[in-house]
Amino acid sequence: MSVHTRHAELTSSECFVDSLPSGWVRADAPMLATTPVPNCPVCDREASDPYAFGYDYELETCRNRWLFERCRACSHVWLNPRPAIETLSTIYPPNYYAYNYDDQVSPLAVQAKQWIDRVKMAGIRKALPAPAKSFLDIGCGNGRLLRAMHQLGVDQQRCYGLELDEGVVQNLFSQGYSAYCDRVEDCTKVPETGIDLATMFHVIEHVDNPGAVVERVAGWLSEDGVFALETPNVQSLDCRLGRRTFWGGYHIPRHWNLFTPASITQLLESRGMRVVDIRYQSGHSFWIYGLHHWLRYGQPRLPRLANLCNPFRNLPLLALVTGFDRLRAALGMKTSAMLVIAKKR
Ligand SMILES: [Zn+2]
Repeated sequence: MSVHTRHAELTSSECFVDSLPSGWVRADAPMLATTPVPNCPVCDREASDPYAFGYDYELETCRNRWLFERCRACSHVWLNPRPAIETLSTIYPPNYYAYNYDDQVSPLAVQAKQWIDRVKMAGIRKALPAPAKSFLDIGCGNGRLLRAMHQLGVDQQRCYGLELDEGVVQNLFSQGYSAYCDRVEDCTKVPETGIDLATMFHVIEHVDNPGAVVERVAGWLSEDGVFALETPNVQSLDCRLGRRTFWGGYHIPRHWNLFTPASITQLLESRGMRVVDIRYQSGHSFWIYGLHHWLRYGQPRLPRLANLCNPFRNLPLLALVTGFDRLRAALGMKTSAMLVIAKKR
């Protein structure tokens, strides 16, 4: 069986049926306007196969049934159609956790996250020929990484952060960081060829034109600059197990582009960068949300068990899946979260 036919196994009723799944709570969830994306966002070709379907299992913000397609040429997976731009405030409600992560988790989990960040950043900095004098974090949230890099010696004013939440940006700006409320594609405040290290963790899967974002970042990098990007990997065990609909990495309908190691490499290398390394991280959230969606909306439905599957609150489960993935990564297996290290070509 070829790769293509193995993935093209959604039935037409799975693609087109229009009823909410059993277990759905929010009966008044709206039907959102959508925008078609007929061509592959990585290689621009049109031939694709249905790959997965699903609903907003996490937040129930809308009643749409969404469909992912997989490119026959480059293996990229994308949401088609995707939510229209004017629906963003519906699919990212004010309580969306990326904006106020530290308020929703236990202090122990915040400390664990800081430790994981420090280890990750130490590994990334090894790819630099000299200590970074400037830093950019795209999707900087509450500024965790800006603070970390400032503590490591980067001038506060040369710690740049982009984030789409006005409140967190103003707060960081008032602390002295160069934080701006801009989309990457529109931002003119970061100096061209002025950034030694740029990070973008779990952002590229949310944007409508990942190629334009990569081109922009390539323009910002200094000659020996490093770009570290983390994004879900569909070529992973948890994605295979939940592929039809429940995998947590789909994050329907907020993830619009999902990559394989090959398609993220193709995207970067066709837009002025070269990939020097791909490292596999723990995909704990994708495991835990996948389990949650399966228990809550699958058969048999076990909503009470599903409620225990929360990566922010269930620390034993978080530790278990993190340990499992770290062990698998150490053994050379590909997990569902890939950290790609790239340089300018
Ligand atoms: Zn493609």
